[in-house]
Amino acid sequence: MDQQNSSDDESRQLEEVASTSAFQDISYLFKRDAPFETRKEALKWVQETGRARKFVLVIKKSDAGGNGRRGRVTIACERSGTYRGIFQRVGIAKAELIEKMPRKLTNAEEEDNTRPNTGTKKCQCPFLIQLKEHPDSYWYVSVVCGMHNHNSANFLEGHSYAGRLTQDEAAILDQMSKANVRPRQILNTLRQRDKNNASTLRTIYNARQRNRIKEVGGRTQMQQLLHLLEDNMYLSWHRKDPESNVVTDLFWSHPDSINLLRSFPYVLLMDCTYKTNRYRLPLLEIVGVTSTTLHSRLGFVFYLQRLCPTTHGH
Ligand SMILES: [Zn+2]
Repeated sequence: MDQQNSSDDESRQLEEVASTSAFQDISYLFKRDAPFETRKEALKWVQETGRARKFVLVIKKSDAGGNGRRGRVTIACERSGTYRGIFQRVGIAKAELIEKMPRKLTNAEEEDNTRPNTGTKKCQCPFLIQLKEHPDSYWYVSVVCGMHNHNSANFLEGHSYAGRLTQDEAAILDQMSKANVRPRQILNTLRQRDKNNASTLRTIYNARQRNRIKEVGGRTQMQQLLHLLEDNMYLSWHRKDPESNVVTDLFWSHPDSINLLRSFPYVLLMDCTYKTNRYRLPLLEIVGVTSTTLHSRLGFVFYLQRLCPTTHGH
């Protein structure tokens, strides 16, 4: 009786493992009678189907076809192939390296082994799908192997490949960044658009940084500032040190401020105490007062020379 119970338990456990582990055949997900019109559509469908199950599928081999040949794409799990460890990559025999290694490094290596497996991803996963272009020029999906030999990722967030932005998403990000939308809100928008989106705040920050570099296009910060002032029709004027060519003072004013000054030229407040503790550089603010006692900032002078005698004692 007891034995019966324990074997029941065992089989139940096995069943549980089979149903929860990723080692099950998921080829049924990729069974599809209707072909795709284009390679892009077929690829997108396969990758999205994988993604819904938290598997990242990548192109392993691609033949665009032409010259009488039919197009063909081989899609594999990102964990297919073998992990090439540091020893293989460097091309040194492991024994040789360990021999040369000081004791301290070996300790570190041992410590490394106790950590969860975070470095290597490739584990010869056999999962394989083929997209084939048939003579009717439609693309057909066929599963070569529908099994993974590892569990699916619990979270695709933070996954470098899965978190990548699509072209559309990148365009949205660019637009929103230019409209000064905060990164957190941009991420929320992207997630609302696509609930499978696995981007993180880091993805957003990195993309914004890349855009910024592209925009600056090799100009230095000062060049970019002068460029923007000119582009946006600001009235600006600067002085520079003739020897080092370093900008020493910079004045700028918005075109609207100039118009305002023309209308109300009577009272001007000039003050040089703008957050001097924080920035340690004097910024001269010129504030105009209109007839309705409204204050408006008319212009700024930025002194890069620290508190020179002429600017002190405003
Ligand atoms: Zn796999």
